[in-house]
Amino acid sequence: MSFLSDALARVSPSPTIAVTQKAMELKAAGKDVIGLGAGEPDFDTPDNIKAAAIAAIEAGKTKYTQVDGIPEVKQAICDKFKRENGLDYAPSQVTVSSGGKQVLFNALVATLNPGDEVIIPAPYWVSYPDMVKLGGGTPVVVETTLENGFRLTPEALEAAITPKTKWFIFNSPSNPTGAGYGHNQLKALTDVLMRNPHVWVMTDDMYEHLAFDGFQFCTPAQVEPGLYDRTLTVNGVSKAYAMTGWRIGYAAGPEQLIGAMRKVQSQSTSNPCSISQWATVEALNGPQDFLTERCDAFRKRRDLVVAGLNACDGVTCAVPEGAFYVYPSIAGCIGKTSAGGTLIDTDEAFATALLEEQGVAVVFGAAFGLSPYFRVSYATSDAVLEDACARIKSFCAGLT
Ligand code: PLP
Repeated sequence: MSFLSDALARVSPSPTIAVTQKAMELKAAGKDVIGLGAGEPDFDTPDNIKAAAIAAIEAGKTKYTQVDGIPEVKQAICDKFKRENGLDYAPSQVTVSSGGKQVLFNALVATLNPGDEVIIPAPYWVSYPDMVKLGGGTPVVVETTLENGFRLTPEALEAAITPKTKWFIFNSPSNPTGAGYGHNQLKALTDVLMRNPHVWVMTDDMYEHLAFDGFQFCTPAQVEPGLYDRTLTVNGVSKAYAMTGWRIGYAAGPEQLIGAMRKVQSQSTSNPCSISQWATVEALNGPQDFLTERCDAFRKRRDLVVAGLNACDGVTCAVPEGAFYVYPSIAGCIGKTSAGGTLIDTDEAFATALLEEQGVAVVFGAAFGLSPYFRVSYATSDAVLEDACARIKSFCAGLT
């Protein structure tokens, strides 16, 4: 009898760990390494949010709270959904967890049975397939293409649906591509879902506020109100408010689903951090103008990185609508050999050689389910990005 669970055996170790570990080893050995792997903003949490947390501590708001959120934070979330997305939710339809990650995990664990299928467009955020497997379900990965802007087509969605499909996981703007779906592109997908009433939508709107060039963010229940009763709208404060370490994510959806998720949470973490919940009340109710400033900084960096990568031999980089990632293709590099003598037969080989020979750490595409690509997180300074692009250019120029 195995000591470890069958559920764990279904989950693969994170393929990103090998690159991260290698980067750490090289750094420890004194090598000058640029990390473009981190999925978090380099900006600090705004001062008004920090002050709200300090005030919460001083007021003794340091005890257990309601399982899935204090009434004040639930109300702030209802107000946010109304104000920004035109969605009406009551506090009883809202859940708050320790990060968007826990929200998604709770929802999948609360609903999946063996054999249930979950449609996940690729490239995807690394955790979706493994969370589905942990919950006992089967991920059904549907690839998108660079030519389609990494957006799932309605035909591909329709073809992936079977009688066993329980969820469709939707993420716009996307990690790892930054691709965003405009109203009509999303409506084409929700039309497919309207024809398939057994399929629920889990929409991961984590990068809602990181959108550029006038891209109008929209979310499924807003675009198609007919989906309201089978949509879980997931969001959080990690990315927009630079609060990755505070661990607060939230969602709204049908009461029965929210109740089931509460049950999972009550037997795991009990409640999200009380202090972080008060900080989130301030994040959502307080001034939002800093978002424009930060988006502007991210857009400039995006432009710098896209231009820098497109100047590299064998690399093609699309211009994404949002988030802080780009996902360049290295189709033109495959089959070549690096200056250091490594055969670049996969995107993993590319990322490893790039790290070893030029000291630039990126995450290879296979980790996100679509090759041959790599992901760059450009949430770092212009100077670092310029240096990184110069190194990638020199690496590509050395391929023969
Ligand atoms: N969803 C996506 C697409 C993400 O990129 C991340 C974080 O990287 C999360 C969810 C989870 O965010 P958190 O748990 O910090 O709220």
